[in-house]
Amino acid sequence: MARCQICGKKPVRGNKVIRTGTGKWIKKRVAVLRKPNLQSVTIIKDGQKKKLRVCAKCLKKLRKEGKLVDYKGKIK
Ligand SMILES: [Zn+2]
Repeated sequence: MARCQICGKKPVRGNKVIRTGTGKWIKKRVAVLRKPNLQSVTIIKDGQKKKLRVCAKCLKKLRKEGKLVDYKGKIK
């Protein structure tokens, strides 16, 4: 299952509401699964490179802390 490896964010269930022509009446509700915006990144933890799947919010946090590295091991 798609899940952030830092904060544990996972898909949430919701409804897509389909309305009639003028948008006044609700015609149908369709169940949808909204997935988190996951990106695979490489970080440095305890002096070692580690590959993780993290959500966009955690990615922003990592970038601020300067823990993000590229494939060569250089800090981004
Ligand atoms: Zn996260």
